[in-house]
Amino acid sequence: MRVVEPVIELGRGLWTTLCSMFEKPVTIQYPEQKRPVRPRFRGRHVLKRYENGLEKCIGCALCAAACPADAIFVESSENTDVERYSPGERYASTYEINMLRCIYCGFCEDACPTEAIVLGDNYELSFTDRRQAIYPKEMLIEAMTAGVRPTPQKTEPGIFTRSIPEMKDPAD
Ligand code: SF4
Ligand code: SF4
Repeated sequence: MRVVEPVIELGRGLWTTLCSMFEKPVTIQYPEQKRPVRPRFRGRHVLKRYENGLEKCIGCALCAAACPADAIFVESSENTDVERYSPGERYASTYEINMLRCIYCGFCEDACPTEAIVLGDNYELSFTDRRQAIYPKEMLIEAMTAGVRPTPQKTEPGIFTRSIPEMKDPAD
């Protein structure tokens, strides 16, 4: 009896291993293969631009005020028509997020009046130094698309006077 029981258990274990050899693997070969994220996934932040290349961020710091982790630092400066970064009076001359503090709650997104800060689908955040975890505006700002003028832009006086665009009421 003492010999039979371990042999049966060994056989059951080997049978389980044998069966799993023919199952479809649940793992993927990351980083070569990447799983698509869920529609409501919140990843690394992106500072968006308008179609004409101007930055949506107006440096109001409402996102910093709403952040429960005190992860955002914003410093604003004045736009001029000769050197314009965003519509309206001001733009974010400094915009930093400390990714070690961020808890990806999305409050900054909700607080932003121009929909400038968006939590995207990038989850590949790694640092080897605490200072690298502070992402500056240059890392956060959306890349330029072809044919769009980069900021700062020289603009016609009296055109970009409104900081907050006209927005439709939400559907729900
Ligand atoms: S997602 Fe939340 S914690 Fe992270 S920067 Fe935005 S408000 Fe702060
Ligand atoms: S991201 Fe939005 S809330 Fe934050 S400073 Fe820019 S405009 Fe204001």
